Amino acid sequence: MATLTYTPVENVPIAHNTVYNKFHTNETRKLNFRIRQLQKLYWGLKDEEPALLEACKLDLGKSAFETYLTEVGWVLNDILFMIKNLKRFAKDEKAEDTSLMNMAMSPKIRKDPLGAVLIIGAYNFPIQLTLGPLVGAIAAGCTAVIKPSENAVNAAKIMEKIIKNSLDSNAYQVVQGGVPETTALLDCKWDLIFYTGSANVGKIISKKAAETLTPVVLELGGKNPAIITKNADPRLAARRLLWAKLMNVGQVCVSQNYILVDKEILPAFLKQLEIAFKEFQPKGAESADDYGKVINERQWLRLKQMLDSTQGKVLIGGKTNKSTLFFEPTVVQVSSPDDSLLKDESFGPLIPILPVNNLDEAVRIANKVDPTPLGLYPFGNKTETAQILSMTRSGGASINDGFFHASIPTLEFGGVGDSGQGAYRGKASFDAFTHRRAITTTPSWVEGLLAIRYPPYTNDKLKK
Ligand code: NAD
Repeated sequence: MATLTYTPVENVPIAHNTVYNKFHTNETRKLNFRIRQLQKLYWGLKDEEPALLEACKLDLGKSAFETYLTEVGWVLNDILFMIKNLKRFAKDEKAEDTSLMNMAMSPKIRKDPLGAVLIIGAYNFPIQLTLGPLVGAIAAGCTAVIKPSENAVNAAKIMEKIIKNSLDSNAYQVVQGGVPETTALLDCKWDLIFYTGSANVGKIISKKAAETLTPVVLELGGKNPAIITKNADPRLAARRLLWAKLMNVGQVCVSQNYILVDKEILPAFLKQLEIAFKEFQPKGAESADDYGKVINERQWLRLKQMLDSTQGKVLIGGKTNKSTLFFEPTVVQVSSPDDSLLKDESFGPLIPILPVNNLDEAVRIANKVDPTPLGLYPFGNKTETAQILSMTRSGGASINDGFFHASIPTLEFGGVGDSGQGAYRGKASFDAFTHRRAITTTPSWVEGLLAIRYPPYTNDKLKK
C-alpha cells in the first residue's frame, strides 16, 4: 500500500507564513497573475491526468470514466469557466439606484480577496473537493494552503506534485497529514477556512476558527432523504436512485441516505430496483469493473457494523469482503424511522427503504430524521414535489432524480443548518473567497451640499 509523507508539524507554520507573506506582496491580486495560475493549474492537471485516474483507481477503485467525470474533467471545466468569466466577476459593482446626492460619491462594491486561506479536503472526491475550492481561491486573488485528505493517499500525492510543479510556490502550498498536522494548521491565523468533511470535525474547525474570528465555509454531510409518492414513476425512481448509490460506492455526501416510499407504490418500486440492479450490474457488483471499493478498513467496518445492527430485512445484496473492501449495494426494508440505518449517515452503498402511508407522513419523518440535510430527492408529480419542497429544508434538491443539482457546474452548491454554511461552484466559488468591500469617493465639489451634516445641529436644520 502506498504511503504518504506527512509534512513535519514544525513546518506547518512555515507554510502558513509563506502564503501569508505572499498575499501581502499584493501580487496575487493582479488579474493577470490569477489567470496565469489558473492556466498553469489546468495544464498541470492535464499533464497528470493519467496519474490522477490511476490514483483514484487505487484509492477508491473508481473507474477512469467516473474519475474523469467527477474529478479531473470536473475541475478542468471549473477552471475554464473561471478563466472565461473572471474579469466580469472581479469588476466593481455600482450600488443600486440611490439618491442623486449619494450618486455623487460613486458608491460601489469592490471585490477584494479575503487573504491567505486554508482549504481542507475530504477523501471521497479527493481531487474535486480540494482543487475545486482552490480554483475559487486563486480566482479571487487569495493565497492558500491546501490539506488534502490523508485517506486518499495516491490522489493526495499527485495533487501535491501538480501544485509544486505548476503553481507559484510562495502563493500555494500543500500540507499533508492527519489530525496533528491539521491541528497545527488550525493554530495559524487564516483569513478563511474552507472545510469539507464530517459534521463532527466541522464543529472542531468552527470552534477553533471562532477563537480568532476567522470566517469558515463548511461543506458537511447529512441524512438526505428520497421521497417517492404514489404518483411517481417507479422505474425512473429506481434507476436514478440506484445510480446515485452505485457512484463511488455511495461515498457521496449528497447521495440519498434513505428512501421513504408510499406503500401503494412499494411493490412496483422494489421490482424496478431489482431490474435496475440487473441492468447496471448484470454479473453482480463483485464482478463489475466499474464498481469501486470502500476507502479503507475503518470505514468498511463502520458500514458493516451499521448493516449488522439494523432491525430491517435485507432484500437485495448484503455481500461484503473485508480483504478487498468490497461492499455490495444493499437494499434493506426497515420498519421504523428509529432504525440505525436512518439515524446515521451511511456514506456507503446502504439503501434503507421505509414504507410510509402518504406524503405528509414522509415529510414528517424526513423533517424529524434531519431537519436540514444536504440534499433532498422528491419523486412524484409536479404538485407533490412542489408540496414536498415547500414543507422541508435542505442544502439543495433534485426533483425526480438523485443529486443531479450537485453536478451543474454553475449552480451554487452548499448546505444549510447542520449540513453546512457557505457555498461554492460557478460564480459562488469566486464569491466564497472574496470580500465585498463597500467604497465611496467624496469629491471636493460636494462640500457645499454636505454642509448640513456638520454640527452644530440647530433646529433650523430640521426644516431644510
Ligand atoms: P473527515 O471529517 O473525517 O475528514 C475531512 C478532513 O478533516 C480531512 O482532511 C481530515 O484530515 C481532517 N480531519 C479529520 N479529523 C480531524 C480533526 N480531529 N481535527 C482536524 N482535522 C481533522 O471527513 P471524510 O471522512 O473525509 O468525509 C466524509 C464526510 O464528509 C461525510 O460526512 C460526508 O457527508 C462529508 N462530505 C461533505 C461534502 C460536501 O460537499 N458537503 C463532500 C464530501 C464529503
